[in-house]
Amino acid sequence: YYLIQGFPVSSSEGFLGYGYITRDITREKEVDSLKNSILSTVSHELRTPLTTIRGSAESLLRQDVVWNPGERDEFIHAIVNESQRLRELIDNIMDMSKIEAGVLKLDIHSADVTKVINRVINRFQQRYPEARITTTYSRHLPFVPLDERRIEQVLNNLLENAIKYSPPHQVIHITAEYLPGEKHIKVSVADQGIGIAKEHHQAIFERFYRVNSSWTQKIGGSGVGLAIAKGIIEAHGGSIWVESSLGHGSKFYFTIPCELIEEE
Ligand code: ADP
Repeated sequence: YYLIQGFPVSSSEGFLGYGYITRDITREKEVDSLKNSILSTVSHELRTPLTTIRGSAESLLRQDVVWNPGERDEFIHAIVNESQRLRELIDNIMDMSKIEAGVLKLDIHSADVTKVINRVINRFQQRYPEARITTTYSRHLPFVPLDERRIEQVLNNLLENAIKYSPPHQVIHITAEYLPGEKHIKVSVADQGIGIAKEHHQAIFERFYRVNSSWTQKIGGSGVGLAIAKGIIEAHGGSIWVESSLGHGSKFYFTIPCELIEEE
């Protein structure tokens, strides 16, 4: 995109003609359309919890109704849960902007990946007691340099999706493996859910991309979870991908390089 600005040029002799300045505004245009798409996508997502919070609070304030304790608790829970959702959404938008601006900072320390995974699973089970999660770890996993909080975030996003896009009570299987000689460890999260057709395998890692199906529409989401996961994994020097077909579950993989640690 170019912006062309014209201006009259004159000297002491009088009017000479018009001069033009051409400015490349491709970048500005891109930022504009980015802002528009972020706004249009998230404004709905931001409004929904706010509407619930406001509606519940207004109900509690009503002078003309006497709520019984059960009803009051329901309103209060709705306020707490929806505020939490709002908070997560805002955090995600902030993370997404940091990744896109290339300013995501990692706090790297050498870590035992299985400990990180187990911690995420424990926390996840508290939130979803019905979730069935199994693990297989290869025996000699090296320590890897990683940002624990960020890798936890990646695993959490993958687990959330595994739950969201599967019928209830399906097993989620997590593996962590290292093959001697390889320069990375590989982690996988597999579900037995709805699966993803091949034509979407790349696009789901782009921000705001959601596969258009009755299931995804019913479930809701902002389409940034996988884009954030990709940003975090690539900031570690690793890669992330999916193997899946429609109706046969999905298996997400990511790698984290570990050659540095081996040399030490
Ligand atoms: P969100 O879940 O908020 O829509 P994500 O970025 O986490 O956003 O995922 C992008 C899309 O990829 C989802 O909308 C869904 O269509 C698809 N997807 C992600 N994980 C899975 C999964 N485990 N099984 C089936 N589809 C998935």
